[in-house]
Amino acid sequence: MKKFLIIGAGFSGAVVAEQLSKTPCEILVIDERSHIGGNCYTERDGNTGVMVHKYGPHIFNTDNKEVWDYIQQFCEMMPYVNRVKAEYNGNIYSLPINLHTINQFFGKTLNPNEAKEFIGTLGDKSIAEPKNFEEQALKFLGDDLYRAFFYGYTKKQWGCEPSELPASILKRLPVRFNYSDNYYASTYQGIPRDGYTAIFERMMDRPNIEIQLNKKFDQDFETSIYDHIFYTGPIDAFFDYKYGRLSYRTVYFERGEADGDYQGNAVINYSDPQVPFTRVHEHKHFTPWEQHEKTVFFKEYSKETGEEDVPYYPKRLTEDMQKLALYEEDVKKLTNYTFLGRLATYRYMDMHHVIGEALTQVKNYGVNNK
Ligand code: UDP
Repeated sequence: MKKFLIIGAGFSGAVVAEQLSKTPCEILVIDERSHIGGNCYTERDGNTGVMVHKYGPHIFNTDNKEVWDYIQQFCEMMPYVNRVKAEYNGNIYSLPINLHTINQFFGKTLNPNEAKEFIGTLGDKSIAEPKNFEEQALKFLGDDLYRAFFYGYTKKQWGCEPSELPASILKRLPVRFNYSDNYYASTYQGIPRDGYTAIFERMMDRPNIEIQLNKKFDQDFETSIYDHIFYTGPIDAFFDYKYGRLSYRTVYFERGEADGDYQGNAVINYSDPQVPFTRVHEHKHFTPWEQHEKTVFFKEYSKETGEEDVPYYPKRLTEDMQKLALYEEDVKKLTNYTFLGRLATYRYMDMHHVIGEALTQVKNYGVNNK
């Protein structure tokens, strides 16, 4: 019978484990943390009873019907629309930038066509091909909106000038010329009724899946007994950082409690550069179907990832991409390994990307091994 080792119990590892478990095989999933679920881990807060996204807010959204159908085998997805507000210079605005934001910010009453034309006049025409985050914003929005909603926030979140970041990061955020304040443009969106951890439990509760927690993978780990190994940890850690560390931003949280409702919304971003945190999340608003007298909220701060920190956002600066290319060459020389997920491929991925790619990887593995 085939034996598989899966390193990491986040979505990549859990999807691979779940899919492979339908075939005759034995699967060992290891994770260095004390819990499954990776950064999607949720738990009930002891003091308030609120379901807390321990590593920051996770709102499931996707255009991929296969992924949407897949995840709902393991949870009841409750309808949820993420509506984010931004505080800037003493005002609360609506995000992503939409007609309400534009009219409020400039003190106007423009309709969609007028707003499109108006914003068109603000954009920097001298930028033909935006080469970075800043140029992308200046080309399409002009200086005032860029300074208000992107410059300060991005500098805090990424710890560098937005001109050093790829334009692709900004492309994650739409600008709307109507009043839609849905943060995502995805076809499907929701929050699992029982939190994310329950999804992972249901996915991996199989007789042929063994999970070992608090188990770190290193080069001394006995791997020769496995037919194939799926690695979802950091790619640089796998090779003991021999070409150097890839840079990530990490986030950390300051917890607060209040009675009732603290801020009236799940997420409020703080775009002023002098406010030290990037955003505040109040998790009871992610489960509007639940009732809680008290509330718990988290101020989110961002910093460079130290050796003991959880890596969150791959920075993908030029020097990172050069190191990544070297690591990827070494991955190609391994015969019975698949590297997948955000950390093992060093990419900015949402949950639905991770799940979609893991499903494809298992299919590819099956095809190659028939
Ligand atoms: N961003 C910003 N202002 C905001 C929200 C986002 O400048 O109020 C920038 C920031 O650089 C961030 C990027 O847009 O990294 C993508 O935002 P998104 O909300 O997708 O980030 P994530 O969900 O990964 O935290």
